[in-house]
Amino acid sequence: MGGDVGRFALTHHKAIPWRFIEFENGCQVIASHSLNQDGYARVWVGKDKKQIMAHRIFWELKNGSVPDGHEIDHICKCRACVNTDHLRLLHRSDHKADNNSTRYKHIKEQAEELWRQGWSKKELMAKFDRCRQTLDKWSKDWREIH
Ligand SMILES: [Zn+2]
Repeated sequence: MGGDVGRFALTHHKAIPWRFIEFENGCQVIASHSLNQDGYARVWVGKDKKQIMAHRIFWELKNGSVPDGHEIDHICKCRACVNTDHLRLLHRSDHKADNNSTRYKHIKEQAEELWRQGWSKKELMAKFDRCRQTLDKWSKDWREIH
């Protein structure tokens, strides 16, 4: 399956130009493609419009297929980042434990609570180990909800 991703990625790579925003910490955040609700950049490729995470494409272009039972983790915690220096392989079970959507929702709610108490984005980035891109997205959501 991983091999397929690589093949699609190469095709896609030529078809649609990628654009990035570079951050001081080295994060390269996708600016040319939309992000999903969890903050991951993804693309649809092939005839059946298969959805693939952008960071996975970049990792595979550099390193080859993701081995079975593994997932790619963002060391920098910025899910829209595709800098391959910020990505690492994890066993799927390790990743799940640290990264399920319930936990994510809980973290976002905690951050919102503090944000409403007047914490700055910078303070929230440090506390929750998230990047600027994530905080910008979250605070946009928080403003729209209320
Ligand atoms: Zn990064």
